[in-house]
Amino acid sequence: MNTPLSTQFDLIVLGGGSGGLAIAERAVQYGKKVAVIEPAHLGGTCVNLGCVPKKVMWYAANMAHARHEAQSWGFAPVHDGIDFAKLVAGRNQFVENIRHYWDGYAVDLGVTVIAGRGVLRSATAVEVNGNIYTAPHIVLSTGGKPFVPPVPGADLGIDSDGFFALTTLPERVAVIGGGYIGVELAGVLRSLGSAVTLLDMLDSVIAPFDVMLREVATENLRNLGVEMHLPFRVQQLIQTEAGKFIQSADGAQLGPFDTIIWAVGRAPNTPDLGLEAAGVEVLKNGIIPTDDYQNTNVPSIFAIGDITGRAPLTPVAIAAGRQLVERLYNNKPDAKLDYRDIPTVVFAHPPIGTVGLTEAAARAEFGDAAVTIYETRFTPMRYALSAQGFKTAMKLVCVGDEQRVAGLHIVGDGADEMLQGFAVAVKAGLTKAQFDATVAIHPTASEELVTLKTPRSDT
Ligand SMILES: Cc1cc2nc3c(=O)[nH]c(=O)nc-3n(C[C@H](O)[C@H](O)[C@H](O)COP(=O)(O)OP(=O)(O)OC[C@H]3O[C@@H](n4cnc5c(N)ncnc54)[C@H](O)[C@@H]3O)c2cc1C
Repeated sequence: MNTPLSTQFDLIVLGGGSGGLAIAERAVQYGKKVAVIEPAHLGGTCVNLGCVPKKVMWYAANMAHARHEAQSWGFAPVHDGIDFAKLVAGRNQFVENIRHYWDGYAVDLGVTVIAGRGVLRSATAVEVNGNIYTAPHIVLSTGGKPFVPPVPGADLGIDSDGFFALTTLPERVAVIGGGYIGVELAGVLRSLGSAVTLLDMLDSVIAPFDVMLREVATENLRNLGVEMHLPFRVQQLIQTEAGKFIQSADGAQLGPFDTIIWAVGRAPNTPDLGLEAAGVEVLKNGIIPTDDYQNTNVPSIFAIGDITGRAPLTPVAIAAGRQLVERLYNNKPDAKLDYRDIPTVVFAHPPIGTVGLTEAAARAEFGDAAVTIYETRFTPMRYALSAQGFKTAMKLVCVGDEQRVAGLHIVGDGADEMLQGFAVAVKAGLTKAQFDATVAIHPTASEELVTLKTPRSDT
């Protein structure tokens, strides 16, 4: 006889992605009875359609670079191209293994996973597949999905989910959108052999980042062989016998392309969530406003991760979820995530890392006179024997007489792994003098960050 599924829980989590799983895992450790509602695969965007498959592709792209450069270092040339289908099959298996892990781990933890789409019916009730489940606490962590603007011919393009569904490498690709996802996908495809065009309605890529990162990222993309059109405002996509074309508002046309990828942002998964029935406030763009403690306007309902519109990154969703559990179930009424100084990396070629204030933000907050900038640009030793090398650039944004390092920005090989340690220093509020007092590791690129001597002349 089947045991009937319980319908009453201490906590119901809508969305088994980065944030939802983190909160469920921590809550059961405090003895809570937890249900996670998930219509797709556990792991959410990061595991299935984001960070994980993306990083596998980035590693493959790096191997393509190494193969290309190897001849300058004395290796015999390799003539075979990539077996893209094999790469994709291997990547999908890797993702499948992680899903499998989560399915088993959820059972081991004692979390009840309910397959289906959750819809709020009240401040303490959720409907899934016609059944009602109740809990005094409900967490919304339904993440987001790629946004495609409603221009004529928009559906001729695919989005980042469609990129992960490709089983053959397209020859001619356009990526619309120079945010971090667009830059990453353009870099991977170009490195693996596609002819890639990248366009954005702004005049630079990775727009919110420090100006130095934007400049060097653009230069590195051009060196990689990506054709850039900045600014370019897309008016429509057109299909002809020769392929797909992109037309701008002023009549300019780019193409033909085999594949066009939209990477112009993501929209929160909040429509059809039943927010009205529960009285949860939602902004016009679908974001659920939360206070510092992840509270929505309804006392029993909380929101974490991408749907809150704050720093849409996996570790942020996880950290916010864990802090919320500490507050609700471990008697820590002040527990909350500090959203300042969140480090992040763009997996470009080479990667880009950033933490803290950009130069412009520091000037706006502290005034020009209080800001001192240390900056360097160079081609690292990594390319000593290579015919061509990518630029590395580093910047310290220091504020006040004590020169606290309030921002740290790196583009260059190894930036992804360098940044985590330096983010600790920025978060701890260390000063330039404390950076200088740290003995360098030689020969590395990161040693530059503790040996920068002279402020930039205009600061
Ligand atoms: C291409 C790409 C690359 C990325 N790379 C990185 C990276 O390198 N590093 C990084 O930190 N972040 C990266 N991100 C962002 C990261 O994936 C998200 O910030 C993170 O997954 C957000 O976690 P979340 O819990 O808010 O939502 P998600 O992980 O998106 O989980 C939400 C879950 O809710 C489910 N759901 C939706 N509607 C309902 C409903 N009605 N009821 C129940 N469940 C529902 C969804 O199926 C999904 O599984 C990337 C994203 C993309 C798209």
